[in-house]
Amino acid sequence: MMDMWFDIIEGSKTLLELDDARIKIIGKNGELSKEFANLGKLPNAEKKAFATKLNSQKAEITTALNNKKILLEDEKLKQDLLDDSIDVTLFSKYKQAGSLHPIMETMDYIIEYFASLNFDVKYGPLAEDDFHNFEALNLSKHHPARDMQDTFYFKDSHLLRTHTSPVQIRTMLKESFPIKMISPGAVFRRDLDLTHTPMFHQVEALVVDKKDVVSFANLKDILTDFLKYTFGDIDVRFRSSFFPFTEPSAEVDISCIFCEAKGCRVCSHTGWLEVLGSGVVDDSVFKAVGYTDCSGYAFGLGVERFAMLLYKIPDLRLMYEGDLRLLRQFR
Ligand SMILES: [Zn+2]
Repeated sequence: MMDMWFDIIEGSKTLLELDDARIKIIGKNGELSKEFANLGKLPNAEKKAFATKLNSQKAEITTALNNKKILLEDEKLKQDLLDDSIDVTLFSKYKQAGSLHPIMETMDYIIEYFASLNFDVKYGPLAEDDFHNFEALNLSKHHPARDMQDTFYFKDSHLLRTHTSPVQIRTMLKESFPIKMISPGAVFRRDLDLTHTPMFHQVEALVVDKKDVVSFANLKDILTDFLKYTFGDIDVRFRSSFFPFTEPSAEVDISCIFCEAKGCRVCSHTGWLEVLGSGVVDDSVFKAVGYTDCSGYAFGLGVERFAMLLYKIPDLRLMYEGDLRLLRQFR
């Protein structure tokens, strides 16, 4: 009997099998435990010797079980270490590199273009006050042009800037002319449809110098160069318009890059795409910042609009959905 039990213990290949063997032999209903039940049937004289024999057998079995357990545990530990080992010579999983968002890419392009023409790049706060965002830009309290810009107001009469023009005001209040600057950044308006989002990006430019040094002709020149450099062989036209902070003002169109000016859905069959607002700085703006005997021009553009044209993205909302399938194309 003992030999058979030792064989079972020795033959156990796993800790689970060994535990089965333990239950089978010395468990509560195990075979050795059953032997103890026979003790009562023996004559008193034989009881002591029988009990001693069973106890020593149980001790031998227990020792064998413990030794085997230590061995199996050791083997298991070795196997676990092997299973968990890392082969450092293997190639790692390919991690895809990120990329700049097409809007940031476009913004960087515009900034670099004008920085190379010695325009200073100026930034200002996103939360503005009424003076810098409206008042100083010839948009007095009840000016009808304020309706053009649905504004996000804070309780304390501060607001989210509706354009980057307040940066021009801040710069002129701090520095004297000549000034040659662009102000890129996010702006906010209460608008949401195919071509408008509540947050979008602008780059606005301002050039101020002594009276009659800077003229509309300079403005026309610099913008025509910029647009032809950016969009290639296109026509540029200046269309008379109105902005409170410039006089005269002009909207700038390029011949449609989608249909080569033949007329399509994107250009509403006009052959022209509006891309910029511009003009000669209104005297009232200079008055608000205390400038005299100077002249200047300003222009501004929507970065999203440029990105849509440059990358031929049909819907503005696609820009903000964060769809990686779209964004990966710009890597
Ligand atoms: Zn067209």
